Amino acid sequence: MPELVECQQCGRGVSSQAARRVAGKVVCPGCVALVKAAAKAEKAMAKRQKETEKTRRALQKAEERERLAEEREAERQRRWRAAAINASRPEPARATDDEQDGVVTGLGIASACLMGVGVFCPFISAPIFGTVSYVHGGKGDGMIVLAFAGLALLLTFTKRRLWLFLPGTLCMGLLLYSYLTVSSKLEEIKTNMAQELAGNPFAGIGKAFVDSVQLQWGWAVVALGGLLALIAGLRAAHLRATNSGKG
Ligand SMILES: [Zn+2]
Repeated sequence: MPELVECQQCGRGVSSQAARRVAGKVVCPGCVALVKAAAKAEKAMAKRQKETEKTRRALQKAEERERLAEEREAERQRRWRAAAINASRPEPARATDDEQDGVVTGLGIASACLMGVGVFCPFISAPIFGTVSYVHGGKGDGMIVLAFAGLALLLTFTKRRLWLFLPGTLCMGLLLYSYLTVSSKLEEIKTNMAQELAGNPFAGIGKAFVDSVQLQWGWAVVALGGLLALIAGLRAAHLRATNSGKG
């Protein structure tokens, strides 16, 4: 006795021997073609949907890319315009701390004045010769100090104030050099006179002459000028260092 099953497509009874299994369904022979066609159509539909979805996603991606590119371009133009506006605006001169500092300015000017004036003040006094200044009528080392004074003034009013240490140090070095030169010269004179006037009652004159040669206060004025320039340079350097440390 053949077993009867129900066709899952049309609902008619069909013997289990005649029934076919198509696309997960048990169907009668009459429905096989129909169910196969339906399954095929469904598959095709799914494939089309998948392709449509793929195309849609690709389009979306392309749109997103375009949008990003436009945003980047807009940002680039905005920056360019901002830069152009900034460039057209005159930039305020940015003074660093040492350029605004009144102490550095004061020290720079004072050092130049002291060096400039000091070289014309009494520098050395000697019997018979009298008193001479450091410039010594244009022949002395004071002429170089005058150049240092000019340099100090220039550095004070340009943006190179930490270089003030240079004329300051050179000025003091020159003073030391002049002092040593004069000392050795006097020592030479003393020795020569002692030899030439050996046994002469006037032999003591040379010693007396040399001993009465004296440095005058102009020396101190020039030295102070050099020292102030050095201090101004050091203070400017210190301000510059602390300023850059803040930034
Ligand atoms: Zn059927």
